[in-house]
Amino acid sequence: MKENFSRLRGFQDIFGEDLGYFELIEKTFRKYAKLYGFQEIKLPILERTELFVRGIGTSTDIVRKEMFTFEDRGGRSVTLRPEGTASVVRAFLENNLINLPQYSKIFYSGPMFRAERPQAGRLRQFHQLGVEWFGGDEPLIDFEVISMLNEILLELGLHDSTKIHINSVGCEICSPNYKEKLKTFFDENKEKFCDDCKDRREKNILRIFDCKNETCRVTLEKAPKTSENLCDTCKHHFDTLINLMTKSNINFEINPKLVRGLDYYTRNVFEVVFEGIGAQNAIAGGGRYNHLVEEFGGPYTPAFGFAMGVERTIIALKQKEIKLPEENSIAICTISENEIPKALEIAKITRGKGIITHILSYYGKISKQLKIADKLNVKYTIIIGEDEVKNNTVQIKNMLSGEQKSMKVEEITTLEI
Ligand SMILES: [Zn+2]
Ligand SMILES: [Zn+2]
Repeated sequence: MKENFSRLRGFQDIFGEDLGYFELIEKTFRKYAKLYGFQEIKLPILERTELFVRGIGTSTDIVRKEMFTFEDRGGRSVTLRPEGTASVVRAFLENNLINLPQYSKIFYSGPMFRAERPQAGRLRQFHQLGVEWFGGDEPLIDFEVISMLNEILLELGLHDSTKIHINSVGCEICSPNYKEKLKTFFDENKEKFCDDCKDRREKNILRIFDCKNETCRVTLEKAPKTSENLCDTCKHHFDTLINLMTKSNINFEINPKLVRGLDYYTRNVFEVVFEGIGAQNAIAGGGRYNHLVEEFGGPYTPAFGFAMGVERTIIALKQKEIKLPEENSIAICTISENEIPKALEIAKITRGKGIITHILSYYGKISKQLKIADKLNVKYTIIIGEDEVKNNTVQIKNMLSGEQKSMKVEEITTLEI
C-alpha cells in the first residue's frame, strides 16, 4: 500500500481480539445502563466549537490544545467532539427532554477525538461509554451511578484490580475560598513548582494536581485538601456518599488530589483506577456538575455522570488475561459443484440454529477447501459428495480430534457447537 493512504497517527483500526473485547465491554455497559433505567441517545460527532469551549471551560487542556477544530464550508467553526457530556446537555435542552422523566437518565456511546500526543492508552480517536443523570442533587444518585459502574467492573472481571478514587471539589460557595488557600500555599512554595504549574496557577489553580512532575507532586503532599475545606452542605453531601460507599462492598479510597480535568465539576468527583496500565491508568471517571445545564441557558438542573474509556478498558482486560467467550463455527465443503444446492440447504439448517456457517465450495478443489476450513479454526467441517446427496447424509469431521463419521442430515440439528 502507498504510504499516503496510511492511517493518521493516533487513529486505529479495531478488529480481531480487540474487537471482541470492545463488544464485550459495550454489551456489559448497555446491560447495566438499561437495568438502572437509562435511555440511550445517539449524538452527532460534529458540533459547534462554542459548545465545547463553553461547556468544558477555556482553562482546560482539552479546549486549549487538544480539540480537532476546523472551519466548515459555511465558515462556521466546528469541532469533533472531545467528550460526551456537553453534547448530552445540549440535546437534553434542545429536544425538551427536561419535560420527559424517562430522559432524566441518559446513556451514550461512541468515538471522541482529542489531538493529544499519541502514546499507550492515549489515542486521538478513542471510544467512550457514558451516562448522565439529570435533576437531582441527592448523594443517593452519585452512589447509584458509582454502584452501576462497579457492577460493570465486576461482570468484566476487573473488580479486584481496580479502585474507585473519590473526592469533593466543593461548590460555588466553598471552592473560591479553597482556591485562595491553595494560591497562598502555592506562592509560599513557588520555587518548588514547575513552569507549567505557574501557568496553571493563573488559569485554574486546581489543575496543579494534574502535574506529573515529581517535585510538584511531593510539594503538593502538604497542600490544603479540598475535602477539609468544604462548606457544610458539600461536606454533608460528601460524607453521605462515603457512608453509603462504606456500607457497600465497593473498593474505594478518598483521594484529596483528585480534581478531574474539566471545569464543570461540582461536589463529588470520582475516577476508576486500574493498577497496572501506567500513567494513563484511569479507565473511567465522572462526577457531579450542578450548573452545566444553566450554563447552556436551561433552568437549574443538578446532574451526575461518568464516562468509561473503551480502549483503556481493553488494555486492562488483556493484562488481566480475561478470556473472551468462544465463538464456534462450522465449514461446509463440497466435492464438486453438483453438491452446492445441498450445501445451501444444510447451511440454512445450521444458520437457523444460530451456528456461524461458512460454505467453502467457491475455493474450488476439495483439498483447498479443507485447508481453508483448517485456517478458519472451525469446530466441525461438513463434507458433501455424490453419495451423501444420494443418501441424504453428510461426512462430519471434528477438527479438534480429527474424527470423521457419516451423519444423517436431520441429525445435524443435534450438533453441540
Ligand atoms: Zn460547598
Ligand atoms: Zn508542576
